[in-house]
Amino acid sequence: MTISDRELGMGRPIERRDFLNGVLMAGAGVLAPGRRARAADSGPYPPALTGMRGSGYPGAYSTGHALRDHDFAPGPAASESADSYDLIVVGGGISGLAAAWFYQQRHGGGARVLVIDNHDDFGGHAKRNEFGTGAAMRLSNAGSFNVFADDHDSGAHVDLYRALGIDIAALARDTVDPGFYHRLGMGQGVFFDRATFGRDVLLPDPAPWTDFTFLYSPTTPPDADARWARFMAEAPLPERARADLYRLYHAATDYLPGLSAAEKVHRLDTMSYADFLTGPAGCDPMVATYLRDRTFGSGRGLSSTTALSAHQRFGLPGFAGLGLPAAYDTDESGTSYHFPEGNATVARLLVARLVPGALAARTPGESMLARVDYGVLDQPGNATRIRLNAMAYHVANVRGGVEVSYTLGGVNGARMRTRGKHCVLACWNYVIPYICPELSAPQREALAYNVKTPNLWVNVWLNNWRAFHRAGTCFMNAPGSYYASLILEQPVSLGGYAHSASPDDPTVLTMLRGYETPGLPIKDQFRLGRAELYATTFDTFERETRAQLASALGPSGFDPARDIAGLTVNRWGHGYSYWYSALYDDFLKTGGPPPHLLARQPVGAITIANTDSGGTDSTELAIDMAARAVAELG
Ligand SMILES: Cc1cc2nc3c(=O)[nH]c(=O)nc-3n(C[C@H](O)[C@H](O)[C@H](O)COP(=O)(O)OP(=O)(O)OC[C@H]3O[C@@H](n4cnc5c(N)ncnc54)[C@H](O)[C@@H]3O)c2cc1C
Repeated sequence: MTISDRELGMGRPIERRDFLNGVLMAGAGVLAPGRRARAADSGPYPPALTGMRGSGYPGAYSTGHALRDHDFAPGPAASESADSYDLIVVGGGISGLAAAWFYQQRHGGGARVLVIDNHDDFGGHAKRNEFGTGAAMRLSNAGSFNVFADDHDSGAHVDLYRALGIDIAALARDTVDPGFYHRLGMGQGVFFDRATFGRDVLLPDPAPWTDFTFLYSPTTPPDADARWARFMAEAPLPERARADLYRLYHAATDYLPGLSAAEKVHRLDTMSYADFLTGPAGCDPMVATYLRDRTFGSGRGLSSTTALSAHQRFGLPGFAGLGLPAAYDTDESGTSYHFPEGNATVARLLVARLVPGALAARTPGESMLARVDYGVLDQPGNATRIRLNAMAYHVANVRGGVEVSYTLGGVNGARMRTRGKHCVLACWNYVIPYICPELSAPQREALAYNVKTPNLWVNVWLNNWRAFHRAGTCFMNAPGSYYASLILEQPVSLGGYAHSASPDDPTVLTMLRGYETPGLPIKDQFRLGRAELYATTFDTFERETRAQLASALGPSGFDPARDIAGLTVNRWGHGYSYWYSALYDDFLKTGGPPPHLLARQPVGAITIANTDSGGTDSTELAIDMAARAVAELG
């Protein structure tokens, strides 16, 4: 049965569709550098903009895509008078902001630093989405979700977190209520959709949590036996698939008999989990279909995740009887923490320290309800200036330092030029060859190796979450559906911000889509996913959101026309940094050097930061790479 647009509420005015297909509906000019926004001419407040966001709106990507397509006309660049710096940082994500901070630390806080970023908000992947106002205001992460402290942590990020008042262990202990949803009778669910499984049915998931386990307890459902009984009776899967799943989760079978432990580890590290399931574990192919979403948190599907990683990182089943060495047990070391706005807290606290008056907060708690004054970010009198909507298109060593040319306000905006003694490129590796032509061919090739993952994080503002409560689910995997995972607001209360406490209150729901094309090389999968992401209109994302919620939760009383108050589609065409896998990266077999080491070599007065330059992807690495890049400036 197809649900009509009217029933879905497609015609309803939801809260400010500011960025319909990425084009800002209300007027918002780009301020000339150094011009302070007054109430009358200030642009919109970026965290509260809804519609197409992330980096998926033309103002953010138009210059970059023109460069990629060799369709960029630099024109005569206007030189900015009296606008020169000690350091110019290209990229205002966590790495770029941290680079500015480390540089200021080395120079006593008085250095002249300019940070430029192509978005209308700072933070890179670590931005905040805000819905509503006052006590009912809801927060969510637009992208980056959690920080992490290793048990034996060291590195620059430890110092930076300390300086920002971020104590991950204390925050995890004091501000998270992991039993919150469980006390309300809610837990993990699985939604089987009619198109894939023959009928729409939502069941409790009988298996342990694999995602975001630090936010939910107990991680293994205490009523697992009853859940399994219901699953075996009602799941719309072939009988063999149900039996295989039960065996996979319960039997301690050695699926690789005759191999030594080391040989098993090697086999598991060089085969995909999808192949492990249908090969050695002898499962029906529907088992892999059923488990489709369980590794999407990494941006890769079962066919591109090694069996070893499925076990170690995701705790997926099938390994209990293999007798693997303890070093390969599911990794539960360290402490993860989720701020209500995700890792935007790190970015915002950095900005609070870099730019006087930008944010009246010193600690994570104080910062939750505080608004950034975007009008003071780029003030001539300040040591550090942050210039938004500014995309570097040419960076070159010149006599006495570096020259950086950039567009202001997208590809059709002004061309500007400025100078600095030093430059840190804290932007993405594969952008650098386009903007920095003096690099050697091998370095350009090494930079281009890092192809990023497409990510889609849709935040839905809901008037209430009664239907979720009635259905007994706060987290839903939906193998076969458009969105793979649905996550109700995390149970974290910090400072003046309290998570939604009652099913009758507004909340925010995050819906994630994974992009996978089994059989293709992983980088081609990413390229295809990115092409689909950019080709999808806001209308399509909205219709899919409404339709999936209606199918899964309609029987529990959800009415998409009534219950959805707002929608922000965080489209990250260039999301997670590339990380290496024995499935795809030959140098791991041949023993050659990892490409990111060559990619990040300094060139004259230009050094390279960003998490890409660390060879994998994390907030902590982005910070450590910033410290290294600043140290390399000498
Ligand atoms: C959806 C999503 C979820 C994530 N979740 C987590 C998580 O939970 N935990 C975690 O640790 N990490 C997570 N990450 C990874 C995240 O990328 C890193 O943690 C970190 O935020 C990267 O910071 P960065 O500054 O290195 O890069 P970015 O955040 O990408 O910032 C680089 C900035 O440079 C800008 N830029 C690029 N080219 C130019 C140019 N020529 N001129 C000006 N600006 C330019 C970019 O647009 C961007 O704003 C997530 C990423 C995504 C996409």
